[in-house]
Amino acid sequence: MKVQFLDLKAQYQSIRDEVAIELQKVLDSTAFAGGPFVAEFEKNFAAFCQVKHAIGVSNGTEALWVALLALGIKPGDEVITAANSFIATAEAISFVGATPVFVDVDETYYNLDPNKIEAAITEKTKAIIPVHLYGQMADMDAIMAIAQRHNLVVVEDAAQAQGAEYKGKPAGSIGHIGCFSFYPGKNLGAYGEAGAVTTNDDELAAWMRMFRDHGQSKKYHHDIIGWNARMDGFQGAVLNIKLKYLAGWNESRRINAKKYNELLANVAGVTLPTEMDWAKHIYHIYPILVDNRDALMSYLQEQGIASGIHYPVPLHLTGAYAAANQGVGQCPVTERITPRLVSLPMFPELTEAQISLTCEAIKHFLQQ
Ligand SMILES: *Cc1c(COP(=O)(O)O)cnc(C)c1O
Repeated sequence: MKVQFLDLKAQYQSIRDEVAIELQKVLDSTAFAGGPFVAEFEKNFAAFCQVKHAIGVSNGTEALWVALLALGIKPGDEVITAANSFIATAEAISFVGATPVFVDVDETYYNLDPNKIEAAITEKTKAIIPVHLYGQMADMDAIMAIAQRHNLVVVEDAAQAQGAEYKGKPAGSIGHIGCFSFYPGKNLGAYGEAGAVTTNDDELAAWMRMFRDHGQSKKYHHDIIGWNARMDGFQGAVLNIKLKYLAGWNESRRINAKKYNELLANVAGVTLPTEMDWAKHIYHIYPILVDNRDALMSYLQEQGIASGIHYPVPLHLTGAYAAANQGVGQCPVTERITPRLVSLPMFPELTEAQISLTCEAIKHFLQQ
């Protein structure tokens, strides 16, 4: 038996006919760029996130960029974010001309540590981007309170958190703007590239809606300098189908996480992920910590079990940002966690037998 890290085929098989019918409708209507299929998805996704507005864009990186532009983040500004995120969070900050300031994360749940944010705030700080890493939301009450105290805006990077909750509130509904990726491997994945921004603010929504379509309020009337950041019609149609199943798929991931937790409980040398009291974790990633990480990954590979690292190099140490940062020591918790991180196979269709096999292999390796 092999265990893939992520099996997109299993899920596709379960909705194959439905997808084929919807995609045929897109073809027949030729609504390829934006259009009614995207609009329908936007309406449903806004309801799912319990926000007034959801606006489809081309991908998650662009969602972050559009959000920062909408909030007026500009050259010379500083934006605080987590040191352990995917590179896109930092790229979006850089591409509005601002400077990413990488702050360390909490040792128990791997998200931005609110206790370390204020020390990083300067006169130039304009925004905070908490990243709901692995599918668990950051401590939003604490972060919103800090933002309010210092007059900052908050952009949620919810790329890994479609359907995650903080004290019952969905990801993307608490900050000024929420940013989502629908990259195929995400919990809600398109069949291509796509993303969305969410907000309760009518003005921000109107601006982002115009901006993503060449700044036009109506065809060929360009009120602001915009961009082409539209979502395409096929993606809107696919996402609209998949959204109906997302809560169930997230629940399956939670059940899988619970099985991992049970089978790996009390295994010496393994630190399991912690689900905080405030959280509904949707386990985009199921990360454990072990000392001999690289050897474990090779051993699992030999057994036909895939695994991953999210992410192998912290942002303040990665090539693109290393020179502008302080090197090792800037974010000690992130630096301590990173070499021990390994992400185990996780997707809704993962079977109990595959989870058992993976856990047996981990135990066997650690007892050698
Ligand atoms: C996937 C991801 C992004 C970028 O999304 P794309 O759609 O791939 O551009 C941004 N931030 C985080 C945390 C992500 O996981």
